[in-house]
Amino acid sequence: MSGRIPQAFIDELIARADIVEIIGSRVALKKAGREYKACCPFHNEKTPSFWVSPDKQFYHCFGCGAHGTALGFLMQYDQLPFPEAVEDLAGRYGLSVPHEGGSSVRAPVDDMAPLYDLLGRVAEFYAASLKASTRARHYAAGRGLTDETMAQFQIGYAPDAWDELMRHFGGSSEQRRQLAATGLIIERSSGSEGYYDRFRDRLMFPIRDTRGRVIAFGGRVIDQGEPKYLNSPETALFQKGRELYGLYETRRARQALKRLLVVEGYMDAVRLHQAGITYAVATLGTATTPEHLRRAFRLVSEIVFCFDGDRAGRGAAWRALQNVLSQAREGREIRFLFLPEGEDPDSLVGVEGSRAFEARLQEALPLSEYLIAHLRTEADLSHADGKAHFVALARPLIEKIAPGVYRDLLLERIAQALGTSIERLQQWLKVEPTPERAAASSPSAVSGVDRGGRGSLLTQAISLLLHHPGAAAAVTERQRQALLGISHAGIAVLRELLEEQRAQPARSMAQTLERWRDRPEYRRLNELAASEPLVSEPSAAGRELVQAVERLLDVQLRGGRLEVLIEKARREGLSDSEKQELQALTSSQSRGGAR
Ligand SMILES: [Zn+2]
Repeated sequence: MSGRIPQAFIDELIARADIVEIIGSRVALKKAGREYKACCPFHNEKTPSFWVSPDKQFYHCFGCGAHGTALGFLMQYDQLPFPEAVEDLAGRYGLSVPHEGGSSVRAPVDDMAPLYDLLGRVAEFYAASLKASTRARHYAAGRGLTDETMAQFQIGYAPDAWDELMRHFGGSSEQRRQLAATGLIIERSSGSEGYYDRFRDRLMFPIRDTRGRVIAFGGRVIDQGEPKYLNSPETALFQKGRELYGLYETRRARQALKRLLVVEGYMDAVRLHQAGITYAVATLGTATTPEHLRRAFRLVSEIVFCFDGDRAGRGAAWRALQNVLSQAREGREIRFLFLPEGEDPDSLVGVEGSRAFEARLQEALPLSEYLIAHLRTEADLSHADGKAHFVALARPLIEKIAPGVYRDLLLERIAQALGTSIERLQQWLKVEPTPERAAASSPSAVSGVDRGGRGSLLTQAISLLLHHPGAAAAVTERQRQALLGISHAGIAVLRELLEEQRAQPARSMAQTLERWRDRPEYRRLNELAASEPLVSEPSAAGRELVQAVERLLDVQLRGGRLEVLIEKARREGLSDSEKQELQALTSSQSRGGAR
């Protein structure tokens, strides 16, 4: 597949990114002095202890210890692996991610431009065909669609013919290649030459990406015929597991979007919009995927899934629940609405209107309640065997949920339902308890960097360099040379940081951290980044660093001398003056030093 993402690109990306904007689009930030604060999205709290620093491009929660860079936030909040977080961030700034030893993962935008253009023109053609067809207009009106709605969603009609698109858009072989690449025409099977139109005699729903570009179509058959719904196949532009129909229109319709309603069909989504529920979106012939949820939760904190009350609907709901568990966490609300049997959102909102429909949304089951209610239908909790069966069914589901407040609360509810304690339930489930915050943020030994706490000279010096990259310039040539003479893993890290900042000063702490992401010392550096800065003024930082390095050198050199004296004492004995020197050294060493 793809090679490593070059560090220079990450460097550039972090320099361009604005962590306040990235976190601010997901969490309500308030300005507080030079920084921003909010209630932490990673733990449950009423008073804000989550801080974002635009200077350092770093966030830190004093409550739960969560901290990191813009990339770290995307990884933690959206649960993205590193390369995807990079893709996501790069996408925001219109950059395509290069990979070492290969081209970028995303095809250059230029290659796709003709396809977007083609799909846009086809959508216009379909819309015009709808206006020209009395039969299609009659059908759309019969389904209760107004002209306004049809214009808003650019609904159209694919004429009842095998070669309409070929005749209008397939003049050259290159044009036919493009039509085929978008899935609009299908190559005839062997024996006969040429292509035929995929969509015939259908009401056409353009599927648009979040930027409003048409990327595919959904077609509903007019009157009778199979299949009732037909979508474009997956293409370079369209992956059905990613796209939500109506998301573009939803974003256009709403100023302050709080919630998304996810339904199963595009007709449902359109009719809900028409009825004033302008936050309805539809999955496209696929179960809800974690990717859908990630996208949705970038916009809102509440998602309601709507399913028909029949057997098929209940089955789809349970599949959806299983697919979304990995995205459940505190600060996100996921609920399930079941409609009365025989009703779908389209028919129901038509009958009872948007207000009554929205009242139903308030009644939707929270994910936790739905999960418990469903398992209860499979296991009888009135006896021990039933409870054991319940636990066995719950275990794989709970394992999908990331440790944290959300999972703890769910466990509490399940314990309640089973009439047991949460500790006992955790034993039964063999679920690791959510680590306490202190333990969570202080990992095991990290090679090299001294773990003596903030007080140690080495830690001070490294922390200063992290928080104030510019301080590196203050370190003298003599000090740099002296550092070269010391072989100590922690000093090596300090030296490397120092040289790195001199060669290419970081513009923010985040940039330094990202340069070290792949290194074993990364985690410890992150902890130092999250600890409060030792000095707040950049000018003072240079002085402090010089002093810290000087004392560090002093201690290290004494340590070196100490070793020489001890070795000599063992081999041949010491002179009186050497004995005095040794005594002086050992007493000063015991007063504290770099180790
Ligand atoms: Zn927190």
